[in-house]
Amino acid sequence: MYIYGKEVSKTTREELARHVAEFGSRYGRVPCLAVVLVGEDPASQTYVRNKILGCEEVGIRSISRVYEDGTPQETIAQELRALAADDAVDGILVQLPLPKGYDERYLLSLIPDSKDVDGFSPNNLGLLCMDKPRTVSCTPFGVMKLLESTGVSLAGKHAVVVGRSNTVGKPMAMLLLSADCTVTVCHSKTPDLSAFTRQADILVVAAGRPKMVRADMVKPGAIVIDVGINRVDGKLCGDVDPDVESVASYLTPVPGGVGPMTISMLLYNTYRAAVARENA
Ligand code: NAD
Repeated sequence: MYIYGKEVSKTTREELARHVAEFGSRYGRVPCLAVVLVGEDPASQTYVRNKILGCEEVGIRSISRVYEDGTPQETIAQELRALAADDAVDGILVQLPLPKGYDERYLLSLIPDSKDVDGFSPNNLGLLCMDKPRTVSCTPFGVMKLLESTGVSLAGKHAVVVGRSNTVGKPMAMLLLSADCTVTVCHSKTPDLSAFTRQADILVVAAGRPKMVRADMVKPGAIVIDVGINRVDGKLCGDVDPDVESVASYLTPVPGGVGPMTISMLLYNTYRAAVARENA
């Protein structure tokens, strides 16, 4: 059975739109997200467009700052400092990956923790590791909402995460651990990946390798979450072969699975950042 992110996301966004409207009546302003895009990568342009459309859908104000590839790094740094100091801005997002030659870590370090709506800052990631989450990385947060939507209890389940990036794999493992799963993290140096994936009650794949997980690598009845987004011959596909649907109890489609949830959680994080700033 498929878990459609669009459907789960619809409920989340409707609820959020009500909260945003209440926020507006209470504080006389609406939450505001600033999105910074550098370069002309078509996938990044699409993600940014969808994030801005998501803001409009729930009543969040958005500001976009677009720079050509080759813009001096200090120009972008100045912009980030200005957005950081701007009282009207609640959340700042730099669309990743940045084109070659930019120092991602340096530029992201200019976003204050309180406006880090992607949850990528060392403090926000550290708080998650300490079971005191403040802003949780949007994609893993969205995956938890998708798992919640199945109604299946996670406690005691063996969760296998394929991928160990700071933005997806690691925070995903932390969230599953906090939900009382037994967690195994696999990565590019894991020998015999299928020996691990076959043990998973919950399998989250975030490797960026088209259709890498085949049906024979999945335990019958497992819940499989496909985070991957790959373009093959101009078409989108995930890291999981669609045939897995015949073995799994649940599978997220690509597109239409994790992607819409990632944006919903970004909108939620922006609203939460605005509330926290009003109450600081
Ligand atoms: P990344 O390149 O930073 O990390 C990939 C991880 O996969 C690494 O830790 C690597 O060790 C592991 N890996 C690579 N090949 C492997 C293999 N053959 N076997 C086991 N592990 C392997 O990527 P990322 O930013 O974590 O993103 C992963 C995928 O998720 C990408 O396709 C990306 O586009 C997608 N993504 C989707 C969303 C969404 O909203 N749906 C959000 C973020 C990322």
